[in-house]
Amino acid sequence: MRPNLLILGGTTEGRALSAALAEAGVPGTVSMAGRVARPLEQNLPLRIGGFGGVAGLVRYLKDHAITHVIDATHPFAAQMSRNAVAACAETGVPLLAYTRTPWQAQPEDDWSHVPDLAGAVAALDGPSKRVFLAVGRMHLEEFTAQPQHAYVLRLVDAPRTALGFPEATVVVDRGPFTLEGDRALLRDHDIELVVSKNAGGKGAEAKIIAARELGVPVLMIDRPAIPPRTEAHSVDEVMRWLAHGFADLGV
Ligand code: NAP
Repeated sequence: MRPNLLILGGTTEGRALSAALAEAGVPGTVSMAGRVARPLEQNLPLRIGGFGGVAGLVRYLKDHAITHVIDATHPFAAQMSRNAVAACAETGVPLLAYTRTPWQAQPEDDWSHVPDLAGAVAALDGPSKRVFLAVGRMHLEEFTAQPQHAYVLRLVDAPRTALGFPEATVVVDRGPFTLEGDRALLRDHDIELVVSKNAGGKGAEAKIIAARELGVPVLMIDRPAIPPRTEAHSVDEVMRWLAHGFADLGV
């Protein structure tokens, strides 16, 4: 039986994995939600858009004879990851999550933790500050409930409609980001607080290191819970898991 992978992507990790799979000649498709206007090129064929919940994903896995699912989505893409766990359990398609370990506070860090985005919004209740709000575009509206701050927002695409903040500066850029660039960003905008999801990995870590160096506090949003699943933390580990799975397929 020929392998046919579905890689749930939209991340630096997913892109690196698709490059390694293409180089190894492993057939598969990368899936993205369609949140950004110009998705980065992938080395494997790309499909874009939601599947339609667990039922839609089950249908997709069956219709496309998917042999393995690799969930390389962002750690905060919890709905997609939960759906993958449920759909793979229902169909018996093996699932591997390619995950990143969360960032850990170092002694020089000044972090406060909140459990979720709502907690971050609530924690911003206080006097006006210059805040680097590094949470992506999808949840910005929730933060308009704290309009007293001067926000710096980094977005992949320039917003097409008003964001609803009295004072906001938009920086259009996409990761991976450099330490030099993020140090300059925090300095140039006199940032007094960084709000970040605990994404882990290297691509978005620069702002955390820059905040550490400059003594800027970080409001860290802890990760959402995802049901237990088999995990790998590197492209090599994913390849080893697949080699084992391909042997089971008789490849
Ligand atoms: P989410 O809340 O977990 O997903 C909501 C819905 O979007 C899913 O139920 C699914 O729709 C669809 N979806 C999500 N990821 C998809 C994928 N890779 N392929 C096809 N459909 C997908 O996800 P999110 O937080 O909005 O993130 C969306 C995408 O952006 C993910 O691919 C993620 O890797 C990437 N991303 C997210 C963040 C973040 O902070 N959340 C940061 C960087 C990149 P259906 O139920 O219709 O299938």
